Amino acid sequence: MDKQIKVAVCGGGISGLAFAIAVGKNPNVSVDIYEAAPEFLPIGAGIGVWMRVWDLLAKMGLADDLKVKTASTTTPDPIDALIFRKSDQPEGVEFYKLVTNGPFITFHRHDFQQTMINHLPDTCKMHHSKRLSTYTTLPSGRIRATFDDGTQIICDLLIGADGIKSVVRDNLLRQKAAEHAAMGNHEAAYKCLVSNQPHWSGTMAYRALIPMEKVKADIAKGKLTLEECHIQHMGRNANLIIYPVANGTMINFAAFYHQPDKVGTVFEGPWVAHVSKEELQGAYAGWEPSVQAWLQFIDAPSRWAIHTIEPLDSYTADGVALVGDAAHAMVPHQGSGAGQGIEDAYFLATLLSNPSVNVRDIPKVLSVYDAVRRPFAVDVCRRSHLNGSFYTMNHPEFKNRIAKCTSQAEQEQVLKQLGEAVKNNWEWAWSSSFNDCMEAGVVMLKRLMTSPSDVTHGVSAVL
Ligand SMILES: Cc1cc2nc3c(=O)[nH]c(=O)nc-3n(C[C@H](O)[C@H](O)[C@H](O)COP(=O)(O)OP(=O)(O)OC[C@H]3O[C@@H](n4cnc5c(N)ncnc54)[C@H](O)[C@@H]3O)c2cc1C
Repeated sequence: MDKQIKVAVCGGGISGLAFAIAVGKNPNVSVDIYEAAPEFLPIGAGIGVWMRVWDLLAKMGLADDLKVKTASTTTPDPIDALIFRKSDQPEGVEFYKLVTNGPFITFHRHDFQQTMINHLPDTCKMHHSKRLSTYTTLPSGRIRATFDDGTQIICDLLIGADGIKSVVRDNLLRQKAAEHAAMGNHEAAYKCLVSNQPHWSGTMAYRALIPMEKVKADIAKGKLTLEECHIQHMGRNANLIIYPVANGTMINFAAFYHQPDKVGTVFEGPWVAHVSKEELQGAYAGWEPSVQAWLQFIDAPSRWAIHTIEPLDSYTADGVALVGDAAHAMVPHQGSGAGQGIEDAYFLATLLSNPSVNVRDIPKVLSVYDAVRRPFAVDVCRRSHLNGSFYTMNHPEFKNRIAKCTSQAEQEQVLKQLGEAVKNNWEWAWSSSFNDCMEAGVVMLKRLMTSPSDVTHGVSAVL
């Protein structure tokens, strides 16, 4: 049997690129990336990562090139990361200071992605204008992938890094649904088909980049302050944050507007569109003056209807693995969607790069990947959703308690507890290490490789 594992990655976003970089020039694994877009285009605005993801980027050799693209520090020392402020009133109130181990390290998304592209090993082949349309599992266990242009390739492992509308996930879940249906398990079949559908979270994100030059005069006159860059403005059904990107030459503006009655409904229209500034301003009517001052700088924000994927029962099938948004698209309220994609990619790449892993060990690698990464990522999705309900003051407990407050002192007390709740829910991001997951995965795989039992029993035995 061929020693080299031939991997095809569908999608050259952050998760797909991270996989190729993490594999590096390992002679045991060959990587081809198939990307639908004809070229990489800078989409989105800012992106940030927490320390546990930064550590991985450093291990992948990206730290030096990324450091020169950010105004953030990159050390794990305690830092005043954010001030929480209730801003949906004429005079806002500051109510909590979030201290984290290391900052949220922020970048212009284009800088981040371009740095990754620059670090692709020359052994990795990138194929543009290659949109996967379907794949089939061959009797040999290998995967045949077919593209829109009619071409086909054969690989040992297909990685679905093709984002929230993943074609790989669609194929994988349809196949699983058919298998369940054939065994008469119609409920499981139905669940597979339903979980494939992205849901609208009821939230809109309004995003824009403001050149620092544009705001300099107002900052000098005291009309604006860069202290804002450490504030999470919160209020009923909305929240807003700004932070510097592109080494402090730009300000990333991200405002979220949540409509609780729209959760899970079908969003009509394009998920990303440029909209009028009046629409954005309408969402923040009555908010405090410092918020209004920043809104004046946003002419035509891009509006993103935030969609998510329900937790999947599996991220893998024979010869196929889902990573990143294809597996677990989440609301962005912990700044962790891309970070989780990088963790998926690094984890899979590390297991596959183990010199004793062979093509026939792929099922074992995939079962360990699913056993370790899926529960973790599902939990991050849940926590991100919870943060959103805290930020927009929609969490049932705090919504009721804030509504019942009869004095300012009482409200201050409840808001302080809200701040604590956010911290407790988010702390994993700056106080835990990816190494623990990785070590568990390496041990699990080692035991499976030496165990004569089958893969499924093996994983449950070592968990
Ligand atoms: C407002 C907002 C703010 C965010 N902020 C942060 C943040 O600060 N930190 C963070 O960690 N995360 C953040 N995220 C989440 C983050 O953007 C995503 O989790 C991340 O970009 C997902 O990367 P991906 O590579 O998995 O998927 P994608 O970025 O969607 O990439 C998928 C790639 O696959 C390609 N593709 C699609 N279909 C096919 C096909 N059939 N064949 C071939 N190629 C295909 C696409 O062209 C694309 O290049 C934010 C998200 C939003 C909406």
